[in-house]
Amino acid sequence: MNTFTRLVRLMLPFKWWIALATLLSFATLGAGVGLMAMSAYLISKAALSVGFSELAVAVTAVRAFAIARAALRYAERYITHRATFHILTRMRVWFYTAIEPLAPARLQRLHSGDVFTRISADVETLENFYIRVIVPPLAAVLVVALACVLLGAFDWSLALTLALFSILVGIVLPIVTQRTSRAPAAALVATRAALNAHLTDQIQGLADALAYSQAQNFSRQTAALGKQMDDAQLRLAHWRGTSNALAVLLTGLAGLTILALAIPFVTQGEIQGVFLALLPLAAIASFEATQPLSAAFQQLETSQAAARRLFELVDAPPASPDPAQPLASPARFDIEFRNVRFAYAPDDALALDDVSFHIPQGERLVLRGASGAGKSTLVNLLARFWEADAGAVRIGGNDVRAYRADDVRQLLGVASQHPHLFNGTLRDNFLVAKGDATDAEILDACRIAQLAEFIAALPLGLDTLVGENGMKLSGGERQRVAIARVLLKHAPILIFDEATANLDARTEQALWHALEPFLQTRTTLIISHRPFPFIAHAQTLILENGRIMQTLDRVQNIPPAPTA
Ligand code: ADP
Repeated sequence: MNTFTRLVRLMLPFKWWIALATLLSFATLGAGVGLMAMSAYLISKAALSVGFSELAVAVTAVRAFAIARAALRYAERYITHRATFHILTRMRVWFYTAIEPLAPARLQRLHSGDVFTRISADVETLENFYIRVIVPPLAAVLVVALACVLLGAFDWSLALTLALFSILVGIVLPIVTQRTSRAPAAALVATRAALNAHLTDQIQGLADALAYSQAQNFSRQTAALGKQMDDAQLRLAHWRGTSNALAVLLTGLAGLTILALAIPFVTQGEIQGVFLALLPLAAIASFEATQPLSAAFQQLETSQAAARRLFELVDAPPASPDPAQPLASPARFDIEFRNVRFAYAPDDALALDDVSFHIPQGERLVLRGASGAGKSTLVNLLARFWEADAGAVRIGGNDVRAYRADDVRQLLGVASQHPHLFNGTLRDNFLVAKGDATDAEILDACRIAQLAEFIAALPLGLDTLVGENGMKLSGGERQRVAIARVLLKHAPILIFDEATANLDARTEQALWHALEPFLQTRTTLIISHRPFPFIAHAQTLILENGRIMQTLDRVQNIPPAPTA
């Protein structure tokens, strides 16, 4: 299916809005034609200095058309804007829902700025497709038909002339303009995305850019991208301007031709003189509908370029698609890796190489290894963000691929070294884990996570804003928020991926000690790059370059609670 057909299909839920917008647009433009025709008639009639009573109908009609035109224009704009906002909202949700299963595996090749551009600017560009591309041609066909019927009532040659000029202005000129603006339109969409991606990267890394004196270098790159965008816009504006000028020229020529054709009819007495001015003026008024079509065709080009970028993502298969007939969520929560082999890309080195281990339900396992050993990759496979190339990852005895990815993720509580905090209050960040958690529940979890004192000391307590990605908190505080969040989720399987690496030794020990009772009934995987002496655990696996090199025996060393 081509891009255009897919866009039209996406429009189906809004077909009545579009139909109403088209109808109102036709009525507004039609009232314009009526107003012009009636005014011309009225002035001509008045010039013949007949009595006022003969003019009364025309005067009333002019009034009615003028008032209707204003009211219809208002209604048309109102409906069009409402439809646009409906469409935009639905499209953003549609796009977000479509790309959600792609995170993180399929999105990692894109800049976050690029994804942002797609969900904001590209979706907004599509707004033009429905309102400025679909509605105007439909309305134009109706208006031209109306004007042709009006002129045809006098003579068919007048109607034919109008139809020909309308085709020139409404079809030929737009097609030529579309061809010439195809390259700059595509360049505009692409450079806008590149500029956004670049700016997002620069703003996120501003502190490092300043520290390495790269600010000037970066602003030069920004300026270069900005200039590319300007160039594309300038070329587009050039074609748009030329096309507008030609449309106005052709409109004038249409009026003159119709006048020239009508004069002999008047002199031969086939058309009354009082109608002479009406004919070219009504025709000219009808071009109000065809003139915007060049812009519509140009919008078609930018809309299609934007849509192609959206469909490219929407069509990407998830790294780990859901099975056609998923198993029900497991009732047992043991974890097993059996001869798992995995590389992030076909040409990459193996991130996991023949990894096998088993964590019985309710037990703990510590996984140790240097940075890059493959520890987080293990979590990625367990959470079904990626799929093993060989071997099996099982929960409750079944391959995780047999369940729905969502069901698997429901079972997991993951606290990582660099958790993401959302830009809201502390409470908002806790509610992410359990939407209906009470303050008492949150504070309980915070007590275990060793956050109670910190929150008690905050003037706004749980209402404290944490800033973008928790910027206003220290690394250790962020990690403890993430741990409290995991506790609130009450998941049966817990994963602590270097989750306490940023805490001082005493807090770290106190935290694990407080966590101990909570872990009793849960299957727990603890990932650490250094020895882990804090709580009793069944086994420690040592991972090196994706392989398990050593298995250390049980550790049952429950340390004493730290003293204040
Ligand atoms: P650890 O968690 O032990 O530090 P990782 O599991 O993150 O190690 O990484 C294992 C290997 O996989 C490393 O060589 C790393 O470069 C690579 N790797 C990790 N994440 C990705 C990714 N998203 N895409 C490509 N390669 C990755």
